[in-house]
Amino acid sequence: MLEGISSSLQKALGKLRSKGKLTEDDVQAAMREVRLALLAADVNVKVVKQFVDRVRERAIGQEVQKSLTPGQQVVKIVYEELTELMGGSQERLRMAAKPPTVVMLVGLQGAGKTTAAAKLALSFRRHQHRPLLVAADVYRPAAIHQLEVLGKQIDVPVFQLGNQADPVDIARSGREEAIRQGADVVIIDTAGRLHIDQPLMDELRRMRDALQPDEVLLVVDAMTGQDAVTVAESFHQHLGLTGVILTKLDGDTRGGAALTVRAATGCPIKFVGLGEKIEPLEPFHPDRLASRILG
Ligand code: GDP
Repeated sequence: MLEGISSSLQKALGKLRSKGKLTEDDVQAAMREVRLALLAADVNVKVVKQFVDRVRERAIGQEVQKSLTPGQQVVKIVYEELTELMGGSQERLRMAAKPPTVVMLVGLQGAGKTTAAAKLALSFRRHQHRPLLVAADVYRPAAIHQLEVLGKQIDVPVFQLGNQADPVDIARSGREEAIRQGADVVIIDTAGRLHIDQPLMDELRRMRDALQPDEVLLVVDAMTGQDAVTVAESFHQHLGLTGVILTKLDGDTRGGAALTVRAATGCPIKFVGLGEKIEPLEPFHPDRLASRILG
């Protein structure tokens, strides 16, 4: 995971780690390499600039800590700033004061929405909740069937009204069904499109207004790099997202999306998807990913 950025950042900082004394030139040279490493990882140019400026400023006016060498202190600053860039601390899901909690999953087709819906349902089940999956993707052929198959696999009920019904009605009826069944979490798999378009956003907004969900989570594919960030900005602008699920982080992704989404949109990444197999979603821990990147 994120091997490219990990090895280039480690290389950039490796020269500093062993040095007993650091000159300003040493720091400047390392920051140039950090900058290139982040750009190569497809991190947004503006984000890279702010990041490097902040690290440089802190590293040159260095906070002195007796237990660390100057080089180790720069590495620590990079670690802290990487963690901060990705949101600081883990952000949990908001749960409704009065159940059921309603979670709407939105995103483009192929991002991994249906898979994430099932993984999220499984996470809730493992935490002693009673989730209900709602199949509101009426456009993609087989999406409803796919959700039913996954639901069976993880033993979570799936509510559907076929693909002729209005998605907003499906979502509303799904919530009523949850109350009838005593389910305490409703996870709605909404329709995606190949590209962002107005009818999609209008439909999702109608659904959001009708249901007032506790969470509107964007499912976005980490492999698409900066496109993922653009998609997140656009969905956030239209819908007011409460968080992001970043999928396919197990693949050969350069890391730009993981490092930029939060800074570009202000939306926290709440979970990551690490494979096609239906397992509970992994909560996103910025500090753990930062230390994994820095080795
Ligand atoms: P949807 O159109 O957004 O509902 O997307 P799907 O859930 O059908 O997923 C599209 C494809 O991506 C499927 O082949 C999934 O198995 C795959 N996929 C979903 N999440 C992940 C993930 O975290 N990692 C990997 N490697 N593949 C994933």
